[in-house]
Amino acid sequence: MLVISVFALIVLFCCSAFFSSSESALFSLDPHQIHRIREKHPRAADRIEHALSMPTRLLSAILVGNTLVNVVASALGYALLEDLLPSRGVTIAIPVMTLLLLVFGEISPKRLALRFSERLSVLYATPLDVFTGVMIPATRALGWVARLLERWLVPTPRLTEDEFRTALHESEQQGVLDREERGILEGIILARQSMGLVIGEEDDVIGLVTTDDILRHIVRAR
Ligand SMILES: [Mg+2]
Repeated sequence: MLVISVFALIVLFCCSAFFSSSESALFSLDPHQIHRIREKHPRAADRIEHALSMPTRLLSAILVGNTLVNVVASALGYALLEDLLPSRGVTIAIPVMTLLLLVFGEISPKRLALRFSERLSVLYATPLDVFTGVMIPATRALGWVARLLERWLVPTPRLTEDEFRTALHESEQQGVLDREERGILEGIILARQSMGLVIGEEDDVIGLVTTDDILRHIVRAR
């Protein structure tokens, strides 16, 4: 029984190391590294890009897996120590398991993953792809709960007028918006300043009163 428990603990530590290192390895890859991976391992590169195209789903699956194995490892470690040292199991299990999980399940794997991110990403591409697929129902359910909590706890962020103008400027610089589109959007801000807008619930614009100023600005922007 002791041998089986120790073996199971080692497997759980390996799983925890896999999840933690996979998170660091994949999320630290830059486009050049993915390009290098594609030259030698095109299939792995496809899987990596597919996984990174849905970062929330990938991160949720990894976190669920990591948390699950850490909790099971902690419970097993406690049971094992309680068997070996009756009545002192909890006192010893908490510091020992915390230290072991941090060193072997979290910190060391993450540090190694940052050093060997390309190699590990290639190694992890297939198992992570399978695991993420299996976890889709769980990650969707968790995403739904998280969004519900966010709606209750975190107010919807609103941009100030200056922040909005800066965002428009940067969007134009990056080529997301052209000059005309930026001008039209700035015209909408001016329209609001001129009290020409009728604002409905949640600040949705439900109507526009076309004063001369607003019209002039929109025409100029066009
Ligand atoms: Mg871990």
